[in-house]
Amino acid sequence: MKKTGNLVGLVGWRGMVGSVLMDRMQTEGDFDLIDPVFFSTSSVGGKAPAQAKNETTLQDANDICALQKCDIILSAQGGDYTTLIFPQLRSAGWQGHWIDAASTLRMNDDAVIVLDPVNLPVIQKALHSGIRNWIGGNCTVSCMLMGVGALYKAGLVEWMCTQTYQAASGGGAQHMRELLTQFGTLYAEVQPLLDNSHSSILEIDQRVVDKQRNLSDIETAHFGVALGGSLIPWIDKDLGVGRHPDQPGFGVSREEWKGMAETNKILGLGAAFGTPEIPVDGLCVRVGAMRCHSQALTFKLKQNVPTPDLEAMMAADNPWVKVVPNTREASVRDLTPVAVSGTMTIAVGRVRKLAMGPEYVSAFTIGDQLLWGAAEPLRRMLRILLAA
Ligand code: NAP
Repeated sequence: MKKTGNLVGLVGWRGMVGSVLMDRMQTEGDFDLIDPVFFSTSSVGGKAPAQAKNETTLQDANDICALQKCDIILSAQGGDYTTLIFPQLRSAGWQGHWIDAASTLRMNDDAVIVLDPVNLPVIQKALHSGIRNWIGGNCTVSCMLMGVGALYKAGLVEWMCTQTYQAASGGGAQHMRELLTQFGTLYAEVQPLLDNSHSSILEIDQRVVDKQRNLSDIETAHFGVALGGSLIPWIDKDLGVGRHPDQPGFGVSREEWKGMAETNKILGLGAAFGTPEIPVDGLCVRVGAMRCHSQALTFKLKQNVPTPDLEAMMAADNPWVKVVPNTREASVRDLTPVAVSGTMTIAVGRVRKLAMGPEYVSAFTIGDQLLWGAAEPLRRMLRILLAA
């Protein structure tokens, strides 16, 4: 295999995922190993960030000739960009490695979903077979597998049901701003009442609900409705349209569909690998958290395994899992988005047997979806390529 060069094009580096990626690459010394070229869709010719070496101005992210010079392109720009640019680049004969946060190419046969602490053997096999498209997984799926992947690796999972609590930042930088703006509007609406300890709580409640129902178009430009002090039980497109209500997949959101499709692909399971898929399904919900995707999991295990053994397996799976004891005190302290945000920790707690029987087990897991759910697998893939 030809050694990969180190001219690395970075696209989408100022977005939500891109900013976290830049931060992690800086912390881990990745820029010492590469010759970065920074691209932009909006500020061509502008000043490149401090990590730039030879190319100190921003290159045009739509310039196929400029992109073609790169040995590796790392994009966190988004699906529309990938859909537009990637086919043109490959048609022009570009042979480099494409690393991407967007979902566009994830399920393609010539692409691998990268999450190396979980699927390094899948990645290495693909690398040796000449694959050049490396795509980060859905953030919720990646965080889930980082936390409870041990149970899958041990072949214990018959099926898994997920109920997610996904943060505003899952939608990007603009969504985080919108959530905070909404909270600010709601607070401003009732501040005089809050300042008066004798004011009526029913009046405060009513004013907040009225405001939530009447936020301006600007205040709901990204979520469409109020998320501050509320939740949205649907994420991404409706994939179930046109199906009979009794068919599997009726009324399924694209985010929910990814749960089963991507979990199996990451693990190297399913028709493409000549094995049966493990059923994974549930509902995906947006909540008013800033960062971190949380999820309540229900497992049907293939056999009855004692709870302490399950916890020990998960704790031993990778250095980032933190098993939180299933106590009120520990759960409230360590198993929240606030505790996990901005850290590499994947917290797993609430592990207990359910009333349905000894093979039915619950867990609650939280990961910073901008780290393990987005930026980290991409920069680790870059390292794998540089070392290959
Ligand atoms: P984002 O924050 O909206 O950034 C995407 C691009 O938007 C930026 O690179 C930037 O491009 C442009 N942009 C416009 N206004 C901006 C502003 N005020 N601040 C920053 N950037 C702005 O999107 P993202 O959340 O990083 O997502 C990028 C891709 O990663 C998507 O495909 C997404 O599905 C995927 N992903 C996201 C997450 C997550 O948790 N957010 C997790 C996994 C995967 P220019 O500099 O060229 O203008």
